Amino acid sequence: MTDMQKMSSRVNIFFSMALLVFNTFYFVEQGERAIIFWIVFSGVTFLLDLLLGMPLFSNRRHVWIGLRIFELLMYAVAFNLERYNAGLALNSLAMLLLLFQLVFSFDYGDIYTRVITTILGILPAAVVLIINMLLTTMETREIFERTGILACLTALCAVLSSMAVLEMNKIEQKLFEQRRLVDNTKEINEELKQHQEKVKRANAELGVQKIKLETAYNRINSANTEMILQNGILKAMASVIEAEKLLSIMTASLKDELKLNCCAILLKKDAVLNDEPLCSIQSIFSADGEEMLCTAIKENVMDDYLAQRGGYVDNHVRADSYRFLDDRSAGSLLILPIEKEEQIIGGLLAIHTRYDFFTENRMFFDTIMAQFIIALDNAGLYAKMQHMAVCDGLTGIYNRGHLNLKMDQFIRTAEEEKTPLSIALFDIDHFKRVNDTYGHLFGDLVIKTIAGFANEMAKKYKGFAARYGGEEFVLAFPGKDVETCCEIVEEMRSNVHSMKLDYDGVYVSVNVSVGVTGYPQCCEKASVLLEHADWAMYYSKKHGRDQVTVDSAEIRGQLGLTEV
Ligand code: GH3
Ligand code: MG
Ligand code: MG
Repeated sequence: MTDMQKMSSRVNIFFSMALLVFNTFYFVEQGERAIIFWIVFSGVTFLLDLLLGMPLFSNRRHVWIGLRIFELLMYAVAFNLERYNAGLALNSLAMLLLLFQLVFSFDYGDIYTRVITTILGILPAAVVLIINMLLTTMETREIFERTGILACLTALCAVLSSMAVLEMNKIEQKLFEQRRLVDNTKEINEELKQHQEKVKRANAELGVQKIKLETAYNRINSANTEMILQNGILKAMASVIEAEKLLSIMTASLKDELKLNCCAILLKKDAVLNDEPLCSIQSIFSADGEEMLCTAIKENVMDDYLAQRGGYVDNHVRADSYRFLDDRSAGSLLILPIEKEEQIIGGLLAIHTRYDFFTENRMFFDTIMAQFIIALDNAGLYAKMQHMAVCDGLTGIYNRGHLNLKMDQFIRTAEEEKTPLSIALFDIDHFKRVNDTYGHLFGDLVIKTIAGFANEMAKKYKGFAARYGGEEFVLAFPGKDVETCCEIVEEMRSNVHSMKLDYDGVYVSVNVSVGVTGYPQCCEKASVLLEHADWAMYYSKKHGRDQVTVDSAEIRGQLGLTEV
């Protein structure tokens, strides 16, 4: 049931009750018949309206319309039965309201249905009225009055219903437009949603692109930093030619620039003409810690890792994984071999506190290491040149030129610091015979062997050995007195004496004659040491060879020499 129907039913019930009350009091004087009629009539009307309000009839409109018409007929009859003006006015008003509610209680949408319904509603009343007019003795004026009222009511109802229908049409139109608007808005919303989705996807893609760009930017940045760093290290490497300096520059640069815990480089024996393994280390460890790690490295603790192709990386170092690290803090560790002609000649050890440090910078290390190997080659060549400049080609020990330089140094130090300086000069006995008997090549071997003995003594007693000339050699011992020097050269002479060299099954032995002198015990001026040693050696030669003679005024006298 519509709101309009509910309203009309309520209005109708109200007026039916009002009519019942009014007529009951008004028609008391009209006799019993009239009272009963009005009570019955009003009661039936009341019940009908109650029924109209019931939902049972809401979808049975034909029944409902029939009942309405019947109700109208009843009113019309009542209208014609009474003869008083007050009753006429009241019943006219009831009629008007009935028509009004009749028209509006329909929920049909089109105007024709309403107009027809209205006419049908009025028709019975009009018919009854006309019949009454014809059958009764009403005066003409009264008939016209009643007919005029009915006509006006009919017209008013039609006009009102039309206006209402027009208004409702407008409302419906508006509703329709609103619905369309809502539908359009929904469509637009849907489109907007799709656009939003697209924008979201585009945003997500942009996000991915942004991350990629950021990664590329970071990579370029770090590559740039690495290039600057590489440049700095290369410049530093180019500025030095000696292997040891090169090593310390390399370790210091890498440690400082990459904020490493430790950077160490090992060069195995003979990598750059070095007699011993070389190890350079730069770290945040204590001096003792550095020393221990260096010793371990020199003792080839990294060998297993160096043997791995392309080096060894551990970016998640666990405690106790590497015994050479002890309890030193390490997050990442890198060990790279230094190779030359497919031989491992050393290695680099780098340690960083952070995990995953040696991931993206491997290329940097490879480049640096390649450059380092070139620099190391140069250092090797330089070492060779230096060696050639200061060492004797045949024996490998220092040559006369270098001896002179060193002697100047030793003499200056001894005289300035008033410290002893002893030297020994020795010559192979009857060497011409060796040459003559076994040939020069064998002679060369003898010279090399004797030089080896001299060098051995120099190393053992922290001295200096040099080839003075043909088969003559010098041993110098800064800080040692003549007696100590004598003991050392006596040991050497005895070794030479016992030595036997094989010449095609023949054992050849040679001896040496030695002259020893020292500052300040034998000479007042250190600058005359070599000359005095020569005299002493000459003395040994003169007095049976294969012996050590200590320089003294006595032997000089015997030789008929006077000090310069
Ligand atoms: P002395 O006991 O008096 O020293 O007699 P000696 O025969 O050794 O005489 P001297 O020391 O004068 O002899 C030096 C010889 O050493 C002369 C030279 O032929 C030889 N000699 C010098 N340098 C070399 C060299 O590099 N190789 C060889 N095989 N012989 C050399
Ligand atoms: Mg000789
Ligand atoms: Mg000689």
